[in-house]
Amino acid sequence: MKFAQRMENLGTEKAFEVLAEVQKLKAQGRDIVSLGIGDPDFDTPPHIRSAAARSLERGRTHYNPSAGIPELREAAASYLTHTRGVIYSPDEIVITPGAKPILFFSALALVNPGDEVLYPNPGFPIYESVIRFVGARPVPMPLVESREFSIDLDRVMDSINDRTKMIILNSPNNPTGGVMCRDDLRAVAEAAGRHNSWVLADEVYGEFLFEGSHESIVQFDGMKERTILLDGHSKTFAMTGWRLGYAGMPAPLAQKIGQLVTNSVSCTATFIQDAGLVALTGDWESVRSMIAEFKARRDLAWEALNETPGIACVKPRGAFYAWPNVTEACRILGVKNSEEFQDMMISEGGVAVLSRSCFGPRNEGETDDYVRISFATSRELLAEGIRRMRSLIEKHL
Ligand code: PLP
Repeated sequence: MKFAQRMENLGTEKAFEVLAEVQKLKAQGRDIVSLGIGDPDFDTPPHIRSAAARSLERGRTHYNPSAGIPELREAAASYLTHTRGVIYSPDEIVITPGAKPILFFSALALVNPGDEVLYPNPGFPIYESVIRFVGARPVPMPLVESREFSIDLDRVMDSINDRTKMIILNSPNNPTGGVMCRDDLRAVAEAAGRHNSWVLADEVYGEFLFEGSHESIVQFDGMKERTILLDGHSKTFAMTGWRLGYAGMPAPLAQKIGQLVTNSVSCTATFIQDAGLVALTGDWESVRSMIAEFKARRDLAWEALNETPGIACVKPRGAFYAWPNVTEACRILGVKNSEEFQDMMISEGGVAVLSRSCFGPRNEGETDDYVRISFATSRELLAEGIRRMRSLIEKHL
C-alpha cells in the first residue's frame, strides 16, 4: 500500500506498544506488574461522572462551537488566570478532545517546513513526531541529571537562533519528573523574545508538584503574546479516556486553531465539556487527595529505587514518574542498554518499565541510561514492581 510521503515522518508512542505487549502476556496468564503506563489508576471523581450523566439526560448531545462551549472557555480562562497569575479571557481559550490535538494544531498553524523547533529530550515522543510531520527540524533540548532534569541551559541557549520558530517546554516533565526553575524559565523567555520564537508550554502536569509552587513561563513580560499554554483534564482529574484538553493563546491564533478543529473533529463532545466545567469549578478535594497519594508513591518509589543495586534515582519533583539511572544495573545484568533492560525485566522479572528510547533518541554525549517508572499504580504494586527489579538484579551480582 502506498501512503502519502508525509506519513514517513510521523512517529508514534512506543509506550503503547509496550502496553500491548504486557496485555498480551497477561492474557496468556503471565504475572506482570506494569509500571509503564502514564494513565492515573484513579477513577474520575463521582461528581464529574454525574455531571456527564446529567448532561446526557438533558439532551446535550449536539454539535457546539469549535473552540468550545462559552462556559468552559470562561472557566478555563479563569483557572489559567488564577493559577498562572496572567489574565486570560475566553476568546483566548480553545477546547479540544485531549491536550494532544493542541500540539498538533499549534505546529500546523505556526510552523513552516524548514523551521527549527526545540523540544525536551527525553520527552513526550509526540513532540518530535509532530515537528517532523510538518516538515520542520526537531532540535533536542537535553534534560540532564546534573540539573535534576531541567534543561542543559548553556546548550539550549546555543541552540536558539532566528530560525527557531517554537520552543516546547514541559514542566513538570514526562518522563523525568523534573521541574524547571524560575531562572531557567526566565532565560528561555528572554531568548524566545530576542529571537521572536513561540513557546508551547505543555503544563498538563502543572497540578502534580510535590515541592514548591508551579511556575509558568507565561508569567514573564511579553510572554503571553508568544505562548501557547497547554493544560487539560486527563491527568488533573483522572479523565484520560474522556478526551478533554484546552490551551490559552493569543486570540487570533485561537481563531486559527478553532478553524483546524472545525476542519478535523468539528468540536469536542458537548456533555464531556459540561463535565469538564464541573471539574474545574467544583470541589477539588479529590484532586488534592490524588496528588497526596502520588506524593506518597513518589517517596516510596524513590527510596526503594535508591536501595536497589546499580540504580540511582534523582528525586522527582513533579508529574508522576521517576527516571532512575540504570547504567550500572544494565552492566550487572549483562545487557547492552535500557531497551534490553526493559525486555529482560518484562520477560524474566515480571515487571514492565519503559526504556530511554521510548522518549527520544539519546542526546549528543549522553552516555548514561535510564528507564521510566510510572506511579500510576497502587503503592503495593509499585513496591512489588521495584522489588522484582531488585531481586532480578541481585541474582546477577
Ligand atoms: N503532554 C504530556 C507531557 C503528556 O504526558 C500527555 C499524555 O501522556 C499529553 C500531553 C497528552 O494528554 P491528553 O491525554 O490530554 O491528550
